[in-house]
Amino acid sequence: MAHLRAAMCVEALDTVVDNLESGMTTTNSVALTVDDGTADFVDVALPILLEFQLPATLYLSTGFVDSRKSYPANGRPVSWAGLRDALSTGLVTIGAHTHNHVLLDRCSVAVATEELDRCNERIEDELGMTPRHFAYPKAVPARVDIEALVRARYRSAAVAGTRSNVPGATDLFRLYRSPIQNADGWEGFSRKVNGGMRTEDDIRRVINVARYRGKAS
Ligand SMILES: [Zn+2]
Repeated sequence: MAHLRAAMCVEALDTVVDNLESGMTTTNSVALTVDDGTADFVDVALPILLEFQLPATLYLSTGFVDSRKSYPANGRPVSWAGLRDALSTGLVTIGAHTHNHVLLDRCSVAVATEELDRCNERIEDELGMTPRHFAYPKAVPARVDIEALVRARYRSAAVAGTRSNVPGATDLFRLYRSPIQNADGWEGFSRKVNGGMRTEDDIRRVINVARYRGKAS
C-alpha cells in the first residue's frame, strides 16, 4: 500500500469507472478491490487502508455474513456491524458478489435473478446503500442471458484478466482485475501494478475451467 500510494493514483472505483467511461486519460490510476467478505477485511485490511488513506471496494457475498458459515480455508465471515464501521470511514464502498457465491455460467436465470436481488436487498437492509458494482464469483463470466441481469442492476462488473483497462475502450461490465497473491513476491506485484502478467493469468484461467468443473459456487 505504501508503494501504491507513492507510485500510483489510488482512486475510488466510482471515480475510475467515471474516467473509463468518459475516456479521460488517467495515468497510473488504480482501484483496490477485495472479494467475498471475510473478517480480515475489517480486522487487517481496514487499519492499513486507514493508515494510508486509500479507498477500496469490498465485493460482498451476503449469504456468508447472514449464515455465519465460513468461507473455504476457514475464512470467518465479517459481521454487518464490522461492515458498518468500515463504511463509516468514508474509504470503503460495498459491491455485490451474489448472495451464495454462485457461478453465473451454469445456474438458471431464475437462480441468478434471486442471487443478485437477494444480495442487493441484504446490503440495502443492513448497510443502507445500494451496491453499484459487481464482481463475478471466481471471476467466471456469466452466460449472455445472465450477463444481461448484471448489466441491468449495476454500473460495472469485474472479471479476470490481469491487464490494464483502457479509458474509452473498456466494456465497464468486463473490467479486468489483477489478483495479488502472496506467491507474487515483490517482482510479480510490481509487474501486476503496471498491468503485466497477462499470460500467467490466461494460463491460470484455463486451469480453473477444469478446477471448477461440476461445482456450483
Ligand atoms: Zn469470491
